[in-house]
Amino acid sequence: MTAKAPITPDILTVPRKEPEGGKINLVGLTRDKMREVLIEHGTPEKQAKMRVGQIWQWIYQWGKRDFADMTNLAKAYRAQLDEHFEIRIPEVVSKQVSTDGTRKYLVRIAGGHEVEVVYIPEEDRGTLCISSQVGCTLTCSFCHTGTQKLVRNLTPGEVIGQVMMARDDLEEWPIPGAPKDETRLLSNIVLMGMGEPLYNFENVRDAMKIAMDPEGIQLSRRRITLSTSGVVPEIARTAQEIGCLLAISFHATTNDVRDVLVPINKRWNIDALLQALADYPKASNSERITFEYVMLKDVNDSDEDAHRLIEHIKRYNIPAKINLIPFNEWPGSPYQRSSNNRIRAFANIIYQAGYASPIRKTRGDDIMAACGQLKSATERARKSRKQIEAEAGLKS
Ligand code: SAH
Ligand code: SF4
Repeated sequence: MTAKAPITPDILTVPRKEPEGGKINLVGLTRDKMREVLIEHGTPEKQAKMRVGQIWQWIYQWGKRDFADMTNLAKAYRAQLDEHFEIRIPEVVSKQVSTDGTRKYLVRIAGGHEVEVVYIPEEDRGTLCISSQVGCTLTCSFCHTGTQKLVRNLTPGEVIGQVMMARDDLEEWPIPGAPKDETRLLSNIVLMGMGEPLYNFENVRDAMKIAMDPEGIQLSRRRITLSTSGVVPEIARTAQEIGCLLAISFHATTNDVRDVLVPINKRWNIDALLQALADYPKASNSERITFEYVMLKDVNDSDEDAHRLIEHIKRYNIPAKINLIPFNEWPGSPYQRSSNNRIRAFANIIYQAGYASPIRKTRGDDIMAACGQLKSATERARKSRKQIEAEAGLKS
């Protein structure tokens, strides 16, 4: 008997046959998977490895989307590829540019869902903030995405496709033969958009492997930061299987407060989390863990909180930097931003204790592109306020 397996988001892993055209999208496939589908569709087994190498470079190094452009492949073979495969990335629905240069894109993925991607230019680098899920299963009470139910996990192609889309928009694909330009507009990736990346582990991992591949986009693992709310069992796996930098949405110094702000704390509390961070094998002075701490007026911003935060980090001897994030309000948000003086005083206590304590500059808030303001226009799966409050344990 072949009972149908329950559909879980992870089953949406590529290769996906999309309704339009029924072609297999090559974007997001691992090299092994690409080899497999090429063989299935007529590439001789003996040639498959070489063909993967060639196609891979066209897609990820040169940004080509059309098999006809792959000039080191025979014409007949290009036509054969075109019959079965496509090179497709999410479609840009809208683009807004902030007065500070931040770009916010709304992109559409299969099924008509939409996610947001933000590009933040800085003097010495450019950071792309990408999404890993449509919505989020978690309900952090200060986060706009947390008001939206999880619709689905993004596939690896949709995750890496956001990076490819941004390179298109920035016109940053190299030109064959031209001298290599070392100063990249898109030099860093942060997984800080919509969704909890560690609840979509395999797909995020496969996409980041593509971002780091030396024959493609070639970003160093030190230029990729994954932010998690604290999915403790997946933290060690992140070090082993991705090896990128880690940021943790810490946000509170007592379990009582963290249970409300970051409800996953009820499952893995502050000590369980700190232990996992202390064990993050890649952690070293040059690879500090970033503690993200959103500054909420009268909720988590006292001097006592700052001292407790330091005690926690010291107790577990974690190489850390503490990134203070002024709370970004969104329509209906239940909190207020701490005053600038309060944030500075908090930062100073941390700094005096010997830790870097940068205050994150709010970018793109005129276009609702700042941290925690992201939420797709797909409103139909919105959680009710009651549900959020119940799940977060808020009293009123
Ligand atoms: N789910 C992951 C990554 C996405 S959130 C996580 O929670 O870490 C990215 C960062 O933005 C997190 O540190 C999150 O806590 C923060 N954030 C969410 N809402 C915010 C808001 N309204 N103002 C400021 N930061 C916010
Ligand atoms: Fe999800 Fe992160 Fe927002 Fe929490 S802060 S609801 S984990 S996206």
